Parts: sequence; C-alpha cells; structure tokens
Amino acid sequence: MGLTVAIVGSGPGGFYSAAALIKELPDCRVDILDRLPTPFGLIRAGVAPDHQSSKKIAKIFERTAQSEQVRFLGNVEVGRDISVAELRGLYDAVVLATGAPRDRRLGIPGEDLPGVYGSSEFVGWYNAHPDFNELAPNLETGSAVVIGAGNVALDVARLLAKTGQEVRATDMAHYAADAIDVSPIRDIYVYARRGPLQAAFTHKEVKEFGELDNAVTLVDAALLPADDADLEDKGRGSQTKNIGYLRDYARNKGDEKPVRIHMEFFAMPVEILGGDQVSAIRMERTRLDDNGRVVPTGETFELPCNIVVACIGTQSTPLDNVAYDEKAQRFLNEDGRIEDGLYVAGWAKRGPSGTIATNFPDGNQVADFVKALTPDSFKQGPAGLDQLLADRGVRVVTFEDWKRIEAAEEAGATHGAPRRKFTTIPEMIKTLG
Ligand code: NAP
Repeated sequence: MGLTVAIVGSGPGGFYSAAALIKELPDCRVDILDRLPTPFGLIRAGVAPDHQSSKKIAKIFERTAQSEQVRFLGNVEVGRDISVAELRGLYDAVVLATGAPRDRRLGIPGEDLPGVYGSSEFVGWYNAHPDFNELAPNLETGSAVVIGAGNVALDVARLLAKTGQEVRATDMAHYAADAIDVSPIRDIYVYARRGPLQAAFTHKEVKEFGELDNAVTLVDAALLPADDADLEDKGRGSQTKNIGYLRDYARNKGDEKPVRIHMEFFAMPVEILGGDQVSAIRMERTRLDDNGRVVPTGETFELPCNIVVACIGTQSTPLDNVAYDEKAQRFLNEDGRIEDGLYVAGWAKRGPSGTIATNFPDGNQVADFVKALTPDSFKQGPAGLDQLLADRGVRVVTFEDWKRIEAAEEAGATHGAPRRKFTTIPEMIKTLG
C-alpha cells in the first residue's frame, strides 16, 4: 500500500492539499475529516451568500473528493471523536487544515454585552453554520455598527443593507433572510481605525457598495487623497480603484435611498455601552504616526446603536497538544511542517488572509513533505480509522451522503435561491434516513 494521509478540515486548505497529494502520489490514500456533515469549510460557511460565483470552486473540490484515492468523512470531530495522536498512529501523515474559526477580541470594556458579535459568529449565523443557528441577533434597531475595514466588514455591512428580495435570492440561512427582510436598520456605520489608503478591503468589494437596491454609501471627501499620484496598485489591492469608488460615494447626499452606509475612517472603538443590551459605542478619533500606526487622539464621541459586529480578523483554535503559536494565533510551523508526519495548510498555517486560491500553494508544500516519507506497514490507515469510529459509535457522513444532503437543500430552494440550507446537524442526518 502507498502512503496514507489524514487531512483534518475540508475547507480550501484541506482540499488543495488532497488534490496535490493525489496528483503527486498516485498510490496514496487520503481521508479528509470534518466535524460538520458538510464539506468545503468557509466556501459554505464564510463566503458571502450573495457571492455565489466564489463558491464555484467547490465543483473542483468535488472532483477531488470523488477520486478513488480520497474519502470524505464528515461529522467526525478530531479532538472529540478521535485525537491527533490516534490519527498519527493510524496514518503516515496528518495534515491540519482547521482554518481560523475563532473571533479575535476587541479587548475593550463592554464587548461581552448582548448585541456585540464577532464576525465568525455573525457570518456563521447568516450562513447557517450549525454552531451559530441560535445566535438570533436583534436586528430590530435603527442603526448598526461594523468595526474593521476588511472584506468581511464589507460583507456584513452590505448584507445588512440589502432588501429581503436581494437576500432571499441567495443561500443565506432562511431565518437570517427573514430577519433582514423586516429589519428597520437605516444607518450602518463601518469604522476603520486607519485611513482609506490603509484599508484592507479590495476594490471589487468596494464597488458593490454603489450597486445596492436600497442603500447609498457615504464617505467624507476630505479624508480622500486629492490626486492619484502616490497611490499603489497591487492587483485586488488597487488603491486607485478603491479611492475612485470612495470618491463616487463622497458625492452622495444620503437621501437617495432609504438605507445609508457610512464608511468612517480614523476612529477606533474604546468602550461598548449598555445594560441588558448594547445601547451605544464610544469611539476615539485616531491619526497615524510616520510608520502608519494608529495613534489615539483623546477625542471621543458616542454613537447610539443596538448591534455591533467586530470584523477584526480571526484566529486558529489549538488542537490537542499540537504546538501552537499564541502570538501568531496559529499552529507553530515552518513552511507547513509542524514535525515529521504532522503538517499544516491554509489559515491554520498562515493566519486568516488572502483569497481562496491563496491556499493553493500550501497543498503543494504538503505534498512535497509527504513525498519524502516512507510508508509504515504497521499503520492501519483508513481501515483502522473505520474500526475505531465504528467502535465509538460515530455516524460518519460520506461524500455520497453529503450529495444527498445537498440534493435535499437544492430541492427545498425558493425565490430563485440556489439552495435552502439545513441549519442543524440533526436535520442533515435525518435526511439520510
Ligand atoms: P482583514 O482583511 O485582516 O481585516 C481586518 C480589519 O480589522 C482591518 O481593517 C484591521 O485594521 C481591523 N482591525 C483589527 N483589529 C482591530 C481593532 N482592535 N480595532 C479596530 N479595527 C481592527 O480580515 P477579514 O476582513 O476578516 O478578512 C480575512 C481575509 O479573508 C482577508 O484576506 C480578506 O480579504 C479575505 N476575504 C475575502 C473576501 C472576498 O474576496 N470577497 C471576502 C471576505 C474575506 P488595521 O488594518 O488597522 O489592522
């Protein structure tokens, strides 16, 4: 038998690794484990529901999953149903591709008040992730605050600004589409702690703020550079295009459409106020030092709001006793190698940055490491895993099972949506009979 590899996590990092392994090692066997019954990680639970074209990559991952060398084992949680050490005892190599699912903390008073959410939980809620289906954020409010100037902040602000009709045509969780449909939110404030030139968002996403049915975007023209001479253009990070769209929005008056998105710069949150629920956020004006770092100015202001979504990045979750870099908030690794036989790919390796395709080279790196290993005939591989999971009574969801779940979701779609997602694991398992 060839080398056996267990990949933990079925998002882009996991699937790009599987694809590279079967390409480079035609006799290897790859098992991809996921704690959810559904594959594809952030493709399903992170990518915005109104960005369906970004989800097309799942069709390529599907081809990998259907290779004779590969199995998908969903509904298997490493760390609960089986440990990393047990997997290492069974397989020649183990690859961690567990992403960065934990929200970073703002580290300010009031951030644990009801009505304050991290982006993972809020995005997970509207994307029907079973962990967050009971979040039930209260959208019965006039204004919402989004902290951060990355693409996730733009996703959250844009979706909150959409009409019921716009979101129902997507695969947003049905309960979230219902809540957005009736929400009286009229003002959405997106706060960047630095300026428009330092924003992490990319131009394609900024452009969409000029194309919303119900919402108009507002920017303070005085904060935008007057000419393009010093702007940097690095692909998706094109400052010229970003600033071009922001200049267009700076010409809006605010009365063109019922909802206003205020793109605010040079302000950072210092306290979230409220009792049983958020009632306001205290912000402090900032400026930049010569190195582009944030300097608080001491000038503060308060903004009434009942919901705050902090979109300030995420971090990996430690797993068993695998070496973890607390400062970098990901597994301790050198170019994807944690130690011989244990590797890491995707955001669990690099931190949460880049597009889906940014994870592609990680797969090749994993394959290069695994190629150098020699199969250990004492390791039981997939057969050993099957036995162990059966002994523990784990209901494994295979890729064929997933295709049945997917077919049921597609059959339930309404309003031109691509699917109506199940929102709980028991619902998915019930579909399988
Ligand atoms: P991100 O791009 O790293 O942006 C995080 C934002 O939070 C930055 O503006 C950062 O400001 C700000 N921030 C961090 N700590 C803060 C604090 N304590 N207070 C106030 N602001 C704070 O992260 P992300 O938006 O979560 O996105 C993760 C990755 O996924 C990115 O590479 C993103 O491009 C990608 N993504 C892509 C798409 C798409 O292609 N459509 C969609 C979603 C996500 P500073 O710059 O000042 O640190």
